[in-house]
Amino acid sequence: MPENNEKNIIKRRAVFMIVITVVIIAVGFALMVMYAGGKKLTKITSYGFNMNTALTLNFFVPEKEADAYSGEDGKNPWSEDIKSLVGRLDRKVLSRRSQGSEVYAFNEWQSTEKFEVSEELYSAVVLCQDIAEKSHGAGDITLGNLIVEWGIEDIAEKGTDVGREEGIEETIVPTKEELDAAAATIGYEHLTAINENGKYYLQKDIPYLTLDLGAAGKGYALDKVWKYLKNQDTETLNSAVIALGGSILVYGSRTSKIGIQDPLSDGMKQMGVLTISGLGKNEAAFVSTSGDYEQYVEEKNESGVIKKYHHILDPDTLYPADTGLRSVTVIAKNGLISDMLSTACYVLGMEESVELLAEYECEAIFIAKDNKVYCTSGVIDSFKIENDTFVPGGALN
Ligand code: ADP
Ligand code: MG
Repeated sequence: MPENNEKNIIKRRAVFMIVITVVIIAVGFALMVMYAGGKKLTKITSYGFNMNTALTLNFFVPEKEADAYSGEDGKNPWSEDIKSLVGRLDRKVLSRRSQGSEVYAFNEWQSTEKFEVSEELYSAVVLCQDIAEKSHGAGDITLGNLIVEWGIEDIAEKGTDVGREEGIEETIVPTKEELDAAAATIGYEHLTAINENGKYYLQKDIPYLTLDLGAAGKGYALDKVWKYLKNQDTETLNSAVIALGGSILVYGSRTSKIGIQDPLSDGMKQMGVLTISGLGKNEAAFVSTSGDYEQYVEEKNESGVIKKYHHILDPDTLYPADTGLRSVTVIAKNGLISDMLSTACYVLGMEESVELLAEYECEAIFIAKDNKVYCTSGVIDSFKIENDTFVPGGALN
């Protein structure tokens, strides 16, 4: 490479995780003691690191109960349970990288014979496949090889040394041959989920097809967290807000204010606030954001032009999706749906997303590259822009 062809790779993951934490704390700290249904509530917060991202847990308990649950180290029974259930789901079921996981084993299984899996993985795949079909492949969990070929997450994690380390490609963009080879092994229509005689299987008709559930895993984990929370005593645990990276679970009847990240600050600040209210005792809402600022690498060419490559890929072009959006936030009654749809809608673009969102009865907030913010009608009154850079674009439906 010519010397003046300077590459500038920037690591964003750590920043992103800190920001998520800061946003959640900011929303919560100002309101340490709250009222819900006439009951004074106290917030108990703890933190973790799961699924390669920040986990922030906020529990709201009646004031008189708070002492029992907030020891000196901030420990409470729910936090520990949730950390271990999310950790297990990642390590044993969903992670493409974890050698002990079912997804890892299925990716190694280079055969078109059926492969037995847990009900847990089967259910996630069934829902992902439904979304893949309805989004015409915009959200697709069979992109494993394409994602590995780009390696955006790996480069972002390695920091500034890409291209200078042995064994790592000199350029960020894979060659046409590499992309074509990956393209020959992707496509949701090549994957089938089978439920037969009480057993569950996955089957691929291309032996080298591999799964990547990065777009759905955090949301699915929050579905499991919701199930866990519903089994706790509601007299003690009134409400909770659990954030796992860019996916948030809002549980219980307390009104919550969720900060939506400012994509121009790489998510370091929030650009608006979404109010979630009216949930019943055991009910939940899920809020997931996908954007080009979460994980990306930048390359500066000879003329000094910086090109950004982010981690959400368009299976049609085989390149990072470019549909004029900075981010998409999806609000749903199901975690996996909110997570997977935020990724799929980012790939589809705003207009094409409206129908898909309606299919799953979801609401959404789109931040376009011209800084206009568009909302679906069900959420337009509960979302407030707080930063002058962004201007309302109106309702989408
Ligand atoms: P994050 O995981 O950063 O919160 P997303 O939920 O949007 O962001 O998921 C992005 C991840 O999903 C990528 O890192 C990759 O693993 C995977 N992915 C990328 N493009 C797609 C796509 N079109 N469909 C499904 N999964 C994708
Ligand atoms: Mg997602």
